[in-house]
Amino acid sequence: MSSTMEYQVLLYYNYVHIEDPEQFAMDHLQFCKGLELKGRILVAQEGINGTVSGTIEQTQKYMDAMHNDPHFADMTFKVDEHDGHSFKKMHVRPRNELVTLRLEDDINPKQTTGKHLNPKEFFEAMQDEDTVVIDARNDYEFDLGHFRGAIRPDIETFRDLPEWVQQNKHLIEGKRILTYCTGGIRCEKFSGWLVKEGYEDVAQLHGGIVTYGKDPEVQGELWDGQCYVFDERIAVPINRKEHVVVGVDYFDGKPCERYVNCAHPPCNRQIICSEENEHKYLRGCSHECRTSPRNMYVQEHGLTDEEVQIRLNKIEEEKNSQTV
Ligand SMILES: [Zn+2]
Repeated sequence: MSSTMEYQVLLYYNYVHIEDPEQFAMDHLQFCKGLELKGRILVAQEGINGTVSGTIEQTQKYMDAMHNDPHFADMTFKVDEHDGHSFKKMHVRPRNELVTLRLEDDINPKQTTGKHLNPKEFFEAMQDEDTVVIDARNDYEFDLGHFRGAIRPDIETFRDLPEWVQQNKHLIEGKRILTYCTGGIRCEKFSGWLVKEGYEDVAQLHGGIVTYGKDPEVQGELWDGQCYVFDERIAVPINRKEHVVVGVDYFDGKPCERYVNCAHPPCNRQIICSEENEHKYLRGCSHECRTSPRNMYVQEHGLTDEEVQIRLNKIEEEKNSQTV
């Protein structure tokens, strides 16, 4: 494998009416396969949301073709250089919603949404005293990196965010509210929902964290940690002025930015964990996950029952010595 940056990863969305998402998805999948792209694209009547990887030439052809379609003529692509594909397969899936909020009264971000701030405006607004910054992503994304001082809503999925706001009004009432997410698509709806709820001063980071990190002026300043992304890279750097690690190892609480999935497939929980602890704990988030006969780590490493037992004993010994 060559290590030169001959590939690109694209991230994009557009809220635009698509008449027949099922048909569109089928046609678009063939189109993407023809270009030899890999990635994941969601299509709904409200628009498109995608991330794909390919060579510079392949991805450029894709962007040109999309811009030639009146539906997507003004769509912004966030482009990252990469040294290979960042997906294994190509999927295009029809959906009811692009981002799952499941609101009774759905928001059309083309009509109702928070004010768009560019990176410089967002950087300045964040530092204002009467401002609260809400991270509109999931908890595991926040834990790897976030804007300094941002609120971490205690939610596992995006659709729980409205309920969280209703239960935490005291944190945001009377303040200017800023929201941000990875590429901006979730905030289009979330900030729109806030406006609809009656919050008057609501703004969102236009283009999301990814755009903020590329801005030549702010250079990702005030971002701590890394940004979680939904492809094989998992984490990408944002702050080009300083790097503060905020992720902590699931097992020992030490600074860490390495994500793995729990080796017990039915669990598959994402945990931050060092390479050393991955081996020590058989990549299992709990005793049950470590001792399951379906533990993938044990299979991948071809460990015998005896070898597994030695590691489990060591974990027990340490646990006991800590409690004494
Ligand atoms: Zn687990």
